[in-house]
Amino acid sequence: MAKRYDGMANDKDDLTIGPVRRFARCPKCNELIDAASTSCRYCGSPLTAQELERAAALQTKLTEAKSKANNRAAMVAAIKSLVVVVLIYSLWFLLRFFRGYGRAPRSR
Ligand SMILES: [Zn+2]
Repeated sequence: MAKRYDGMANDKDDLTIGPVRRFARCPKCNELIDAASTSCRYCGSPLTAQELERAAALQTKLTEAKSKANNRAAMVAAIKSLVVVVLIYSLWFLLRFFRGYGRAPRSR
């Protein structure tokens, strides 16, 4: 019974998000590999810590740029849908308003 699950009290590692796993592009075959590894698991070429550090830094920058772009895209999409909702609502409101106005008895 080695795999007893202790729940929240003892297993802090299960709850907290550990250090983010970094990825790096292999300088030889350009595959995405774990930055903590010492050799590429695709082409098997040994990797120096320096190479990996540089590749990982580049990859982190790329990932950050991508997620930033994604955030911006998501925000633009959110604003667009908000604008669409507002437009539809105001159209509906105007339609109601003008219909009500047309039906209203004119008193002069
Ligand atoms: Zn490789």
